[in-house]
Amino acid sequence: MLFAGQICGVEGYVESIATGMMAGMHAAAVACGETPRALPRATALGSLCHYITHANPANYQPANITFDLLPSLDEEARKRFRKDRKARHAEVCRVAAAALLEWEKAGSIEAGSIEAVSIEAGSAEAARQ
Ligand SMILES: Cc1cc2nc3c(=O)[nH]c(=O)nc-3n(C[C@H](O)[C@H](O)[C@H](O)COP(=O)(O)OP(=O)(O)OC[C@H]3O[C@@H](n4cnc5c(N)ncnc54)[C@H](O)[C@@H]3O)c2cc1C
Repeated sequence: MLFAGQICGVEGYVESIATGMMAGMHAAAVACGETPRALPRATALGSLCHYITHANPANYQPANITFDLLPSLDEEARKRFRKDRKARHAEVCRVAAAALLEWEKAGSIEAGSIEAVSIEAGSAEAARQ
């Protein structure tokens, strides 16, 4: 079973559509007998999926995507952009774009962390039908 949108803990139009896109991509992968691939954590959608699957459920709040959800830059980059928020955000975007390109090139990332969706055993058969 695949979940997307606010039922999986995101908030907002873009976030709901983005997780819907991931659920669709994962369903297509399963239907084709492939292993669904989680997006890199460095990307906005990868970070959103990480957040909704790792946040403490005790005080959970539905999440919009923000820069706060993305991984911190390395120390050297943090120092370099410490006083320039715009440049810091641009660097986070550059890192995300590079990670996305790698992900696309690699064709597969390590299986095991399908974060936006939960795929139960037998869903491959269901997706094919
Ligand atoms: C007042 C308000 C203002 C908002 N403003 C913004 C905004 O400005 N910007 C923004 O990004 N986000 C905004 N949001 C949040 C945004 O609307 C939601 O995050 C987003 O629509 C969630 O999309 P979804 O597809 O997950 O769910 P929904 O849009 O709620 O879609 C779920 C659909 O499932 C249907 N459904 C429910 N139960 C069943 C059932 N049993 N069988 C069949 N169908 C069923 C419902 O009728 C509905 O059509 C706002 C939300 C509200 C309430």
